[in-house]
Amino acid sequence: MTGLSSEQCRQLLDWYALVARVLPWRETADPYHIWISEVMLQQTQVNTVLPRYLSWFNMFPDIQSLADAPLDDVLKAWEGLGYYRRARFLHAAARKVVDENNGDFPRQFDEILSLPGVGRSTAGAIASFCFSLSKPVLDGNVKRVLKRWSVTVNEMADAKLWLLAQQAIDQSDQPALWNQAMMELGATLCSAKSPKCGMCPLADSCASVGKVNEVCGNAPKTDKRSSVRDVHWQVKLYYQPECGLWLEKRPDDGIWGGLWTPPILEKYVPEQGAKPCYIHTLTHRRLHLYGEQIQQDPIGCGQWVKDISKFALPTGIYRLLQIYGLQMLE
Ligand code: SF4
Repeated sequence: MTGLSSEQCRQLLDWYALVARVLPWRETADPYHIWISEVMLQQTQVNTVLPRYLSWFNMFPDIQSLADAPLDDVLKAWEGLGYYRRARFLHAAARKVVDENNGDFPRQFDEILSLPGVGRSTAGAIASFCFSLSKPVLDGNVKRVLKRWSVTVNEMADAKLWLLAQQAIDQSDQPALWNQAMMELGATLCSAKSPKCGMCPLADSCASVGKVNEVCGNAPKTDKRSSVRDVHWQVKLYYQPECGLWLEKRPDDGIWGGLWTPPILEKYVPEQGAKPCYIHTLTHRRLHLYGEQIQQDPIGCGQWVKDISKFALPTGIYRLLQIYGLQMLE
């Protein structure tokens, strides 16, 4: 396996200097800001992240304020971004940094990697963007570029890709820019479905140029839909005009962990022919939600809520409440 030459690295960096999108997290080297952006971008589109990234710092301007905030406030701030585990990790990591490092974000790669929710690729992004450490990013976009570029495309295990990525970033001598350029190339020209090889700065050396289907296929062939399991949940809507809506906090583990919802009967068996009010799709589950309005008093741990905007609710529950006209309680 041969790495990229210094000339190929230079071509990529020159291309990036010309085409780089202006994004707010590219205008800073502050590790708190970079960390938040990287975690938000892990499973969420740039356009969705943009306004949320900016508003985040109004609520939690620094790592101390994030550590001091109740977890409920952090989950509320994360509302709509999905994959709430990320918000819980952010909160836990902020507390760790404050407790163990007086609020100073760690500067060493291994220390960054030890933070809750920070994997090798995210640690590489923070280490390179903020501290100019020669640590590669290997997110899905960069993996795709390297797999296609390399001669031994399909069979390349992650370990080999990490090696190739490390060789390349060392060769580039500009770790922050290199990682940015590779991420940009994967997100724009070397896209999963229709790579634009004719515009690519690596076209001269790429094993897959103009023949992605033939050499390594397009997007990964796994059919995500086949791994999505259908589950049926009954959502019990206890609503009383004088009290509001009854909400319970879900356990930290599992789907919608730590968020607030009406009581939910999981493993619900709907009547023959019954249709769900709303279907909410997660990575591995398709939640068929059946609302049930109930007049009796609720039992169990929960509370009456008149202003649900102060609570972190999953998007699927919001949609269901909209259908029942219960989303604007006050
Ligand atoms: S030449 Fe095509 S397949 Fe190769 S890295 Fe560039 S865009 Fe991707």
